[in-house]
Amino acid sequence: MKHATMGEAPAVGFENEAFAEKSFRGKLAVSKALAKNWRACYFSFKADLKARHEIHGFKNWYQCAQICESCMARKDVRSPPGLNFRNFDPNSAAWMETMIDHPTFIAMGGSSPWQCMEGWTLATTTWDWMHNVYLGVGRDLLGSGLRLLIERGVFGPNPRLNEVLSEVQAQMVRDCRQRGLPLPKKPALAWTSIGGDDDYCEMSSKFKAVHIKRMVWWLAFKSQEAADSNMDDRVLQTFATCAYALQRCIEIQDGGGLVLSLEEAEECYSSLILHLRTYSWLASFHWEERRLLFRMRPKHHILYHQALQLKEWRINQSVFHCFDQESFLGKIKNICQKCHGRSATRQIYNRYLLCVAMMLEQHRRIVS
Ligand SMILES: [Zn+2]
Repeated sequence: MKHATMGEAPAVGFENEAFAEKSFRGKLAVSKALAKNWRACYFSFKADLKARHEIHGFKNWYQCAQICESCMARKDVRSPPGLNFRNFDPNSAAWMETMIDHPTFIAMGGSSPWQCMEGWTLATTTWDWMHNVYLGVGRDLLGSGLRLLIERGVFGPNPRLNEVLSEVQAQMVRDCRQRGLPLPKKPALAWTSIGGDDDYCEMSSKFKAVHIKRMVWWLAFKSQEAADSNMDDRVLQTFATCAYALQRCIEIQDGGGLVLSLEEAEECYSSLILHLRTYSWLASFHWEERRLLFRMRPKHHILYHQALQLKEWRINQSVFHCFDQESFLGKIKNICQKCHGRSATRQIYNRYLLCVAMMLEQHRRIVS
């Protein structure tokens, strides 16, 4: 990495060993030319929350009482209410005043193996929008939202929940397809797909991130309809605002460039904050009612940091998401599933290279 940023080939190997004179690396060591005049630069570190912890060794992450290395928010109930990450009330959420910047992080004893990389800071270790929203808070919003809409009789008074859910899925697929957003009919939406009766409502992990994204659009659209015909229902009104705010933030970024305009960034920030405050209200309301709806997760807290970044940097969060990387891992998994366990580690590379070679050959034939 160091030599890639300098644009010069190394003269010796990692352990100071000399290269064979006629080898490729030996020739590069003499000419020093590495990728002509191109040089690599560090821009950001992309990963989900678990990988951030494992690679950087952050002491404070979502499985600890102090859940975040960028502020003093905590998840244990014995800590002061102002430090509770579930608290999004600007008048009492003291953790919002405890933001930790990079120099403070280092001064407090924070470190990472990536510290030697020029440009690496705590802030450039970015958060993944796909894991946080589509595989995180979006799944909770959908599960709880669908249950709320069903209980309010939006899809009719059918007492058989699995039948209602198959009707909901049919509507979802039809509405999404009408707007050019293909949504598969499988996996089938059943009561167990949204958490059942014994746990918090949450969409099953069988649904892919891109499908959750389309379902969030549909949920925002459907909840608006329900709220318009139930003006006195404050839970439904709050839920519709919550779903709309998240969808608005997603669509601004989908339609925006890599760097958002001042107005776009400001609207993204305020939509996301509105989503978090309304969701927090719904969580608190249902907790008092002893209902397992609208679970608050550390990912909601991370979304607050992403909202601040959106406002400050104005960089579209799609730059930092891991859709392509996860898709690549899926392809490797498909190859791996067809290999024998004993020889898998070698065969994966062989078969992957074979797939790449076939793709290149196919491309060559089309071009010529
Ligand atoms: Zn934090």
